[in-house]
Amino acid sequence: MPAPSGSVRAVIVTVGDELLLGHTVDTNAAWLGGELGALGVRVVRRYTVSDEEPEIRWAVRDAMGAADLVLVSGGLGPTPDDVTRDAVAGLLHRPLRTDPDVLESIRARFLEAGMQELPEPNRRVAQVPEGARKLPNPVGTAPGLALETGGALVVLLPGVPRELRSIIEGSLGSLLSRHFPGRLPPTLSRTLHTSGIPESLLAQRVRERLPEGTGDVRMAFLPDIRGVDLRLTVTGMDPVEAGRHFEELERKLGPILDPWRFHGDRGDLADAVVVALRARDTDLAVAESCTGGLVAKRLTDIPGASDVFLGGVVAYSNEAKIRHLGVDAGTLERHGAVSADVAQAMAEGVVRAFDAGAGLGVTGIAGPGGGTAEKPVGTVWYAAWYGGRCAVRGERFPGDREAVRERSAQAALMLLLRLLEGRATDASASRG
Ligand code: ATP
Repeated sequence: MPAPSGSVRAVIVTVGDELLLGHTVDTNAAWLGGELGALGVRVVRRYTVSDEEPEIRWAVRDAMGAADLVLVSGGLGPTPDDVTRDAVAGLLHRPLRTDPDVLESIRARFLEAGMQELPEPNRRVAQVPEGARKLPNPVGTAPGLALETGGALVVLLPGVPRELRSIIEGSLGSLLSRHFPGRLPPTLSRTLHTSGIPESLLAQRVRERLPEGTGDVRMAFLPDIRGVDLRLTVTGMDPVEAGRHFEELERKLGPILDPWRFHGDRGDLADAVVVALRARDTDLAVAESCTGGLVAKRLTDIPGASDVFLGGVVAYSNEAKIRHLGVDAGTLERHGAVSADVAQAMAEGVVRAFDAGAGLGVTGIAGPGGGTAEKPVGTVWYAAWYGGRCAVRGERFPGDREAVRERSAQAALMLLLRLLEGRATDASASRG
């Protein structure tokens, strides 16, 4: 049995054949791990099991022996392979009963969607094990279900990531503080976003800068393809004191982080660019070759960005670069499509075409074919134009086609941000 005091231990169980077959990447487990960590819960194990009742029962029984909290994701829907509810109700000897409130809210959703009747299978979603606490699902039909067992607290969650997140964000904190009083140390964190510096190099520079360590602040490096986040966390500290610790560390790390750091909503660099464009009362157009519209997608992912993002041109062929962006045929001939001169001509051309205040041009070899000894796969040139100045960079990005495109889009956005901020020191005069 888990210890009744000390830190709360958790096991995450994700259910679904699609996870085991690799058709779906298990983002729920990763996301839940981050959320639990931030709440001061220690995740000690993780299981992924198929949509079969015996497998689910095995995992949940085992998890209950190892942890105070068991989070189960997936298999709460209406289809025959959604058997998590039955498996756990059976394991805990809790009869399933149709919950009239849940049934009513499901019926209302169906009516709203223009359907006359609630299909029979969907009534299953309204079945709730005896004694379960319902956790509201603001974006779907199946509520989360929390079951106290005398030992572990077992929480069942829908597999759809958006629904799972919305339930957890709304309910988990209060559920845990009620269920584990005094066992969750208040945990506060701050995340610093960087892009363009590899994790190993960043970690080395941080170590050199802070040979004495980070004191009471735990530091985690969270890399993904777009950059590295640095998460600072303190536990059991009041918010004012925690704020002081964070400020102090940020000040010390400033000289290291500054060239790479950006401030964007949810760590999104495109968001930082949109904010910077607004602050300068200017607008942007983009010219893309190897990224095929990815930069434009990143910008249009942000609701309301139309006040500063005018649009873009995907100019994949030389012909399109000449015709739609006014790139000089001789420049293409002399330097090749993947070159500093063409990236600059694309940025300048799209500024002219859209009469924009700022422009981006990206051209590269995403692979797997098309590389040469002189310009291997991953070679990308990108240019940013703003206020009569143009900054141009060339890089060789690692990874497959998708990775090269992601990294190119991110690097181009970063260059533009720095140019807008007046920090792209190598920018030179350009007529645009
Ligand atoms: P539904 O009502 O849609 O049936 P559910 O609770 O039964 O919800 P599942 O059927 O298991 O959930 O999954 C629904 C969707 O969520 C599927 O598209 C699935 O690929 C996705 N999904 C399930 N589990 C995960 C996971 N661990 N990580 C990411 N996506 C997931």
